[in-house]
Amino acid sequence: MKKHVVGIDIGGTKLATVVSDSTGHILGKVRKPTLAEKGPEYALGLLFDMVRETVRLADLEQAAISAIGVSCGGPLDTKTGIVYSPPNLPGWDALPLKTKLESEFQVPVTIENDANASALAEYRFGGGRGYNAVLYMTMSTGIGGGIVLDGQIYHGANDSAGEVGHQILLPDGPLCGCGKRGCLEALCSGPAIARRAQAAIRKQLTNKKASTTMLTLTDGRIEDVKSEHVLEAARTGDALALELVSETAYYMGWGIANLVNVLNPDIVLLGTIAIAAGDLLLDPIRETVSKFAMTRPAAAVEIKPAQLGDALGDLAAVALVV
Ligand SMILES: [Zn+2]
Repeated sequence: MKKHVVGIDIGGTKLATVVSDSTGHILGKVRKPTLAEKGPEYALGLLFDMVRETVRLADLEQAAISAIGVSCGGPLDTKTGIVYSPPNLPGWDALPLKTKLESEFQVPVTIENDANASALAEYRFGGGRGYNAVLYMTMSTGIGGGIVLDGQIYHGANDSAGEVGHQILLPDGPLCGCGKRGCLEALCSGPAIARRAQAAIRKQLTNKKASTTMLTLTDGRIEDVKSEHVLEAARTGDALALELVSETAYYMGWGIANLVNVLNPDIVLLGTIAIAAGDLLLDPIRETVSKFAMTRPAAAVEIKPAQLGDALGDLAAVALVV
């Protein structure tokens, strides 16, 4: 009976393959470094071996696998299954990933960008269960997003929907990885929070004000201050760290309010940094959203941490095919 699926999670540093039953229960898992510098042919060969190994680990025959789901950094075309030069995968230029996997394993393959696949996983297995309109936003090295409406990922005209991190909030703001200025990502991603924190600490030191717990946490090295130090120091009541958290919540809330007005979601699920921060960050985000968004959509939306945590990568690929 074919009721099992394979999920493949392709990242710039690691590849993961899992086998799951139809409820998202993981029966086997293999992880290996991507070694992205070796190029796509190497990674593909490795993936083929990993899929077979994972099926064996799950105590199954290849014939028990009904489909393969792939979660991968975009840009990619979900219809043709071609991957176009993801920034973290050098050499993956117009790679026909879907065709290659289908001809190797003779089962249907669904390919999706990782943020969309994560949104679908939260909808199917996590914090989005029971809701119709789910907006998922990551808050890590970048700010990505995915929109699930009535159980379907919203792709837009050419698989470019959900770029929630590149809404421009400050046209003269800090430079973003996308080449524009003042995007939400350039203000609230992990590295962006760290940059703002380091600048604020330098300014405080020039003004000869009292030091901050953030520096105690990094043994005095300003350049080592990261978003997690901001959160940790804020929890101890450090004034500068609290200011940085409140600034982050203000920008996030502003960005989310824009999205709430456009999409009218039932729920917004925030990943990574928001999960680590909890209500310290989420409460002021909720306040800002209710202040900036229009009354009706603001009244309808819940803003919560995403639920899947470390399981997200595995379930993102699986969610595409169960
Ligand atoms: Zn941008």
